[in-house]
Formats: sequence, structure tokens, C-alpha cells
Amino acid sequence: MPNKEMLLIPGPTPVVDEIYEALASETYAHTDPRVVKIFKNSLSLTKRLFNTDGEVFVVAGSGTLAMEMALINTVAPGEKLLVISHGYFGDRFIPIAKAFGIQVESLQAEWGKHIQKELVEEKLAEGGFKAVTVTHVDTSTGVMAHIEELIPVVKKAGALFILDGVCAAAAIDEDMQKTYGHPDYKLDVVLTGSQKAIGVPPGLGIVAFGPKALAAREAMAKVPGYYLDIKNWISIMNDPGKYFATPPVNMIYAFNKGMEIVMAEGLNNRYRRHAALGQAVRAGLKVYGMKPLAAEEAAAPTLSCIVYPEGVNDVEFRSRLAAKGMVIAGALASLAGKAFRIGHMGNVTEEMFVKAIELVGETLKEMGLEANMEAAVEEFKKVYHSV
Ligand SMILES: *Cc1c(COP(=O)(O)O)cnc(C)c1O
Repeated sequence: MPNKEMLLIPGPTPVVDEIYEALASETYAHTDPRVVKIFKNSLSLTKRLFNTDGEVFVVAGSGTLAMEMALINTVAPGEKLLVISHGYFGDRFIPIAKAFGIQVESLQAEWGKHIQKELVEEKLAEGGFKAVTVTHVDTSTGVMAHIEELIPVVKKAGALFILDGVCAAAAIDEDMQKTYGHPDYKLDVVLTGSQKAIGVPPGLGIVAFGPKALAAREAMAKVPGYYLDIKNWISIMNDPGKYFATPPVNMIYAFNKGMEIVMAEGLNNRYRRHAALGQAVRAGLKVYGMKPLAAEEAAAPTLSCIVYPEGVNDVEFRSRLAAKGMVIAGALASLAGKAFRIGHMGNVTEEMFVKAIELVGETLKEMGLEANMEAAVEEFKKVYHSV
């Protein structure tokens, strides 16, 4: 089944045929050795993706469930959490924490900017924070956190570093054994969903716990959850032939295929491709007078939030594009109507974005604006091949 649409929203991202074929394979018993083998393989590839010496958990659910799983297994009710927020998805940790009685405080970036480490240092100096959450790429703003600056600050303060990688994993390096200036300065938890840069349909929450995060769970007598308690899952993830709760068998087939595609491309190649794509898409659109919300040093490889030039009606622009088979997303909160969001992650190609740049130009022209399509495509290609 070929993709009929160019789904360039911040997830789900385009699903390639091989993944659809895997998804449509026969549903066997969840304990059938053929399923167990595929599940095991997908878990070992997930460990490779995050390069973790801890444990990975792949469960039915979405990215939000993965966020919840990360929190309740590391921070107990009554303990303190600091949320570093670069927008809508960073903020989402606040109600999650509150739902579990976690004492939560937050640092809010101005939309489009990233939070400076000095501010975090100052806040953590108040003491007592068990963990800090950071959203790698905030899908509302297209801002990428500077984790290389934040990790040392958070770890020096003795807190766990929890990274929401939903809009980043498999497109931006999230190596959990990489150290940032000291052997202990590492990521502790990274989480994602199946439908963003991994390029699989929505349906799976994926969480990796490093040794310090696993120790934090061990130190808690209980957690306010059952399905989300990683202690109920550890033996399953080590032997998927065991039963705790029925895994979504067909989604596991699809996820395994998705992870094989990621590894066949190679992680470094994939990271480089996304870095190039992000810069090139923004450069191409700039030719049309469309400006990214985030400055290039804070802009994400996976997704861009682009401010409309004067005189473009958001709903009309996006519906015209949708009629041509290209789907993008509106902006959120105070940016609604003033900007759009375009995903450039997962199993997408250069050809797709040449087409996308052309369609945007065509649409602007239809709406009575000027658009130099040749120049925009040329700029896109030039930047794409120079990164
Ligand atoms: C999409 C997204 C989420 C939420 O994931 P769902 O699968 O929609 O629950 C969380 N964080 C980030 C950064 C996201 O991009």
C-alpha cells in the first residue's frame, strides 16, 4: 500500500511499505516463539538505539504514557521534580506530576528560545530535586534543548536527567552511555513513541532506564501504578515469552521492522540526514519569506515551526496544501494562526521535500503571493547537500 499523502505533521510520520507489510502479518499468540523472537530482536535494537546498559520497555500506549512511566518510576509522590519547558510538550510533565502528587516546579522558556544552563543551575541550588525533565525537541516550537549543557548542571546537583525524546529518538543522538565532562554525567531516562522519528504507526510507548534510574525505582517500596510499574515489566522485557499484559503483537512486528530500517541506515547516517534536512527545509522556506520561530542554533533537525509572511491565512494555506496531498500542522497556543509546523523526520526522502517546497510555492502563488519556486528548491538542495 503506497502512501497516498505526504504526512508532514509532527507525527505520525510517513510509514513505508515494508512496515505496513509487517503490520499486516498474521497475528499469532503473544507467547508464540515466532512473536517472541521478533519482540526480542526489537528490544535489542532499542537498546542499541539508546546504547543503554540498563533496561528498555516497549509497551502499548503513546508517548504520553511513556512520559508517565518515566516519572512514576523515578519520582515518588511528595518528592520534587523540576520541569524544563520549551513549550506545550515540556509543560505536559506538570499535570502528569501533579496527578501523582509529585511536587513540581518549572522553568519556562520564551517560545522559540531555549533555556540557559545558568537559570537551571540557580533553580537546582535550592536543593532537593529528585529529577529534572527536559524535552529534547519541543514539538510546539521546534526548539531543541541543548542537553550537552544541561546534563552536567543537572547531574552535578544530584538529580536524575529524564529526556523526552518523542520528537527526537532515532533522528538525534541520545546515547545513554555518552558522558558529558564526568563519568557520571549521563542521561538517566529517555522515552519516545513509535510514530515520530522511528516512522512506525502510533501505538507504542518506549522508555529506556539507565542504571541510576533503575536504582531509583528499586529504592521505592511501591509506585502509584500497576501497568506502568517497570518492576512488572522487567522480566517480560528480558523474556518476552512470559506474560504480564498482552503486547500489541502486530505493532511489535511493525516496530521491529521500523527498528531494522533505522539500523540498516545506520544511526550516524540517520542523525546526519536529519540535521541536513532540518537546515535545508528552513533555508528553502526562507526564500518564500517564511521564517523559523527558533533561531538556527536552537532549531531542531526533526521539526520546524515556521511563521507565515504577512497576508497568509493559515486555514486556507493548509487546506489548499492538503488538497494537493501534503499535510502539515497548525501552530499551538498563542502562535495558532500565525505559524505552521512541518515535520521532517523519520523515513522521509529528499524527493519528498523537493516536492513539498514546490507545493508550498504553488500554494502561495494561488493565494496571490509571490514565490520563486526554482530558487527555493535550489536553496533546499544546496543546503541539504552541504551539511
Ligand atoms: C508527540 C509528543 C508527545 C506526546 O506523544 P503522544 O504519542 O501524542 O502521547 C510528547 N512529547 C513530545 C516531545 C512529542 O513530540
